[in-house]
Amino acid sequence: MDDNWDSKLLRDTYLEVDLDRLKMNVDAIRRHIGEHVDLCAVIKANGYGMGAVDIAPTLIENGATFLAVANLLEAMELRKRDSNWPVWVMGHTPDRYLETAIDNDITLTIFTTAQAEKIQEIAYEKGKIHKIQIKVDTGFNRLGFKTSKEDIEAISSIFKHANIEVVGVFSHLALASYEEDIKQLELLLDIKNRLEKVDINKTVKYHICDSISGISYPDFRLDMVRIGAALFGAKSYRYPEFPIETIAKFKTRISHLKTIEPGEGVSYDYKWRTKKKALIATLPFGYADGYPRNMTSQGEVVIGGQKCPIIGVICMDQCMVDVTELKNVHVGQEVLIFGPEGVSIDELSQKSGTNKNEILSRLMQRVPRVYMKGGSIDHIRNDLL
Ligand SMILES: *Cc1c(COP(=O)(O)O)cnc(C)c1O
Repeated sequence: MDDNWDSKLLRDTYLEVDLDRLKMNVDAIRRHIGEHVDLCAVIKANGYGMGAVDIAPTLIENGATFLAVANLLEAMELRKRDSNWPVWVMGHTPDRYLETAIDNDITLTIFTTAQAEKIQEIAYEKGKIHKIQIKVDTGFNRLGFKTSKEDIEAISSIFKHANIEVVGVFSHLALASYEEDIKQLELLLDIKNRLEKVDINKTVKYHICDSISGISYPDFRLDMVRIGAALFGAKSYRYPEFPIETIAKFKTRISHLKTIEPGEGVSYDYKWRTKKKALIATLPFGYADGYPRNMTSQGEVVIGGQKCPIIGVICMDQCMVDVTELKNVHVGQEVLIFGPEGVSIDELSQKSGTNKNEILSRLMQRVPRVYMKGGSIDHIRNDLL
């Protein structure tokens, strides 16, 4: 890394994001879903920690037709970066923010007639036609119109607003079992049939799939799939062989080395004590970077191609590893905290009792993101500078 890049990092702990690998994942997903199914790239929670605005260009260039986020704030971050990106909020947008969304051409998710009427009013005043997607609750019980006759009539009525363009009608699967997922799909298909009379132009996209269902249930894909986790290489036990790979490596460098004597303890409460003379490396990352604190006494990192155990309690900003077995270890040496050639995100999430998305989405702002393309650094994002 040259001086120029160093001045953008200002610390040794960073997340390396491989944009070429991201492109390969997108290609693999698009080949798999086929050309008649749109790919909506889900990049909520700062793109699952990968940096939403930094990965969005790769996603758009490689055929994503929507960038989906959870809320308007996330949408505005993307809009600030590019006035043309097709940005969609999948969650609820409170009424008081509707005007901002309309001014900025952010596609909204709507599931009440009252909110549709508000959008119609605002869009009419501004002389705009605003895009929305209608959410239907087929069983998840999170957001959406239910599926009664009255609900379907309510949905139909939204199509009649002159200043609203319904571009999607969608639902979300609980993935409890294939049988129950099928029931949800059938409810959405039933609604699709009933909306034929109002969806005259047949431009509405119907969709219900996330990564797991989009990859493993061919019959569920309909017009579009909403893929998040798989973009970043998260594999499910349902598709262990699917050709995607993790795009992120969490890295740091050794900040200090010391030899300790038998009986000495390390870190808070001396929860770990050495029985023999040991070489201990201090690493400048901790739980406030997003690394799970409960990896204390079970975590491992890779140094010089070898796994080394994290010893003692993980601190807020630092932790210690036993490197006694390593040869030629030195301060400044690169450490792989997680990544494909070391501890996988899967292993880390299982050991710490969570899922892969939580590990990635909790990587903090103070961890700079380094974007790799064609084998060299494309750019660095450092939210603190
Ligand atoms: C997060 C989310 C997705 C993407 O889920 P993945 O499992 O990460 O692919 C799709 N749809 C909705 C509504 C979501 O909230």
